[in-house]
Amino acid sequence: GDDETKGKNHAFVYIASKDYAWIPATLLDTDKGKAHVEVPHYKDEQSIVCDGGASASKKTKEWVDLKKYPNKVLPLQNVTGGGQLIEYPDMVDIPFLHEAGILFNLKLRHLRGRPYTRTGDIIIAINPFQWFTELYTEKKQIMYSNRLVWESTHTEQDPRRGLEPHVYEASALVYRGLAFDREDQSILVSGESGAGKTETVKICMNHIASVQKGRDIKSGGEIDPVVRRVLNSNPLLEAFGNAKTTRNDNSSRFGKYTQLQFHRPEDEMAGSIDLANTICKLAGSKCEAYLLEKNRVTGHEDVERTYHIFYQILAAPDAEKTKLWDGLKGTDFNSYKYVGDTDTKKIEGMTDAQHFEKTRETLELIHLGGDKYTMLMRAILVVMQTGNLTFGPREGDSDKSDCTSKKELKGLAELMGVPEDALNKAFTERTMKTRGETYKVPQDAKTAKESADAFAKEVYGKLFLWLVSGINEATKAEKNFEGGGLASSDFGIIGLLDIFGFESFLINRFEQLCINYANEKLQQKFTEDIFRSVQAEYIEEGIALAEITYDDNTDVLDLIEGRTGLCALLNEECVRPKGSDEAFVNKALAQNKKSPCIVVNHMDRMSFGIHHYAGKVMYSAEFFVVRNQDTLPTDVEELMQISTNEIVSHVAVDNEPAKAKPGRQKSNIVGKTIWTKYKTQLATLMTDLRKTTSRYIRCIKPNKPKKPSVMEHVGTVEQLRCAGVVAAVTITRSAFPNRLDHAPAYRRFLPLKPAAAGKADKNDIKALLAELMDSALASLVQGEGENTKKAYVIGKTKIYFRAGAMEYLESERLKG
Ligand code: ATP
Ligand code: MG
Repeated sequence: GDDETKGKNHAFVYIASKDYAWIPATLLDTDKGKAHVEVPHYKDEQSIVCDGGASASKKTKEWVDLKKYPNKVLPLQNVTGGGQLIEYPDMVDIPFLHEAGILFNLKLRHLRGRPYTRTGDIIIAINPFQWFTELYTEKKQIMYSNRLVWESTHTEQDPRRGLEPHVYEASALVYRGLAFDREDQSILVSGESGAGKTETVKICMNHIASVQKGRDIKSGGEIDPVVRRVLNSNPLLEAFGNAKTTRNDNSSRFGKYTQLQFHRPEDEMAGSIDLANTICKLAGSKCEAYLLEKNRVTGHEDVERTYHIFYQILAAPDAEKTKLWDGLKGTDFNSYKYVGDTDTKKIEGMTDAQHFEKTRETLELIHLGGDKYTMLMRAILVVMQTGNLTFGPREGDSDKSDCTSKKELKGLAELMGVPEDALNKAFTERTMKTRGETYKVPQDAKTAKESADAFAKEVYGKLFLWLVSGINEATKAEKNFEGGGLASSDFGIIGLLDIFGFESFLINRFEQLCINYANEKLQQKFTEDIFRSVQAEYIEEGIALAEITYDDNTDVLDLIEGRTGLCALLNEECVRPKGSDEAFVNKALAQNKKSPCIVVNHMDRMSFGIHHYAGKVMYSAEFFVVRNQDTLPTDVEELMQISTNEIVSHVAVDNEPAKAKPGRQKSNIVGKTIWTKYKTQLATLMTDLRKTTSRYIRCIKPNKPKKPSVMEHVGTVEQLRCAGVVAAVTITRSAFPNRLDHAPAYRRFLPLKPAAAGKADKNDIKALLAELMDSALASLVQGEGENTKKAYVIGKTKIYFRAGAMEYLESERLKG
């Protein structure tokens, strides 16, 4: 009854649940290592809240054997008397921090319209799937810049105190680091598809561009042209590199690292008290793209789309279309097989036609108007037109083939500026070389079609890189300061990383391995950074460095990138004349037997698994060799070189890793594999990132249907794990799982009156706390004499509890 609960302290706990990850419950009793728990039942996942079971439809009681399932029941953080959860903007302040505590704190804030939460230096951003416009006003931007940059003193320990967590805090703090500490900075944004990475990066970038206006900003006014070009390059890249997928209507199909370059005032002025002198001005930007999904060019699921730009061109005004190419007249999505039908005509609130206009304007803004614009658009038309080519067997000889769509072939020849005949031959014949002799081998219709598809993908890949370098050309600071004689080393950098998060699907392919490899690399840096920050905290608190333990992932990285690692072996297989996926798996398993991270699949010889930091992933090795090789038939390559469209004919030089020894076929192929290029790119990225001070934003997609105010527990917990949030918390708490500020700790445990009270100075909270704890935790002291290990340590501002101590105190308090 009600009387029972009144005035009495209930112990609230979380109990593990298969379907809902965790459910808040009431601990009724403990007995001989067993816990008696009352579990409330709710009508659905959404209504599960921490309310002491008040809104539950019914409750059941169960006994949990804690010896058998030590992690099934976890203590619940601070609650009100009625069991309502207390919300924490910074999760480091939660007295009992674990997966369940993180989940429910995030859920509570999400439901209350607060998407951002901190755990120390990490910001967790829950995608709200609704725009809280009041969160992103100019006023908010200024507030964060003023509080964290312009009004905070250089020496202030944590200027974020009392400030609601926000991604603006990350953007303001990187600016502060750049301007005051004079260190390069980066913000690393991660999360699964649809979690909000790209939007977050744009929000940060906009804010960073506004911080530089200084503290006395007036609203409105002219936008600096450099800033305009830099900010506008985002939607432009999205037009060419984003597509609608089942998971996200505006999904980035490539990874992106943008370096914002800042002009820093001369060194002599560093540390100057005159703030105006320390203002760093955005001078430009440079971006690097990773692993564009080229396969999307030639086909996509019915409910998905190919890259936005295709729909944009087709939605353009007729006059514009005919100006680009006669053949476009009167065409729509259905006219092009690669494009196909779509019911989505709006992305992010704008129609494809409106987007086209924006794309055209932006291209002009970054000096890719006029002829360059026509060339770029026509390169896209080349891709579209290629998809409409059909091939059929030559009469009486099905080993030979010809293009059977004469009109389409003619159109493509026109767009590329090559003879029709050359075009037909490039796809239907293959030049072979043996012992100095060259001869042509006819290709069947299926192979010819495959060649055409490979060609289309290559052209799209080229035009995308062309666009990226065009954008860089127009935005890079070296250009904007031309004549000023600035080299890239003269700039301060704020890097923004928007890269695919960890992926684990039903079937995982070569692409997933590449993506997960990047995530392992980033995870390695993440753990190092967390480790360092915990050490820094202990030093700051003036307590001895305790044993911080954590799982590092060098074993996984070794397995992937090591000398006899998976990727070296795959490269070898790509060089071997009869290399096959199956042989690759055999070698990979045989040569990495000792790795603790490899998983053998006895049921399927084409499959293998890896224990990633975020969990086990099984990969299907099918197509690993071809996907890694990514080579075009020489005939097609030669065809491209004779095209009058310079984007198509351009032979990328800078994109080819150098140092592939000339004359040696083998190393040349290895030098060209997707893997080799990607690994080099990632190595450069990591080197660049290691020169910066990094901040982390972890984006979470709270539910699959993309609804506002809904949080699916299991999916969220999984993402927290993949994002390393749980691991970060584990590292932070490995030596001292719980911590509290002096005063709250004293108030909380004062009911456990110290045995010999009264000796400590009443005004010395530290002494009072020590006296209280020495008595309350006396039974937990380990060792004797010099080796005594108390169950707690008191630092400058906080008390740190060793494992078990806080739980013990809580249970004593509740008994009281
Ligand atoms: P992908 O890996 O597929 O590129 P992503 O993590 O980059 O995904 P976004 O494209 O940034 O995801 O976000 C997906 C969608 O979520 C956006 O189109 C937008 O509708 C919504 N969204 C993201 N961030 C916010 C936000 N801060 N407020 C409101 N809605 C948001
Ligand atoms: Mg994205």
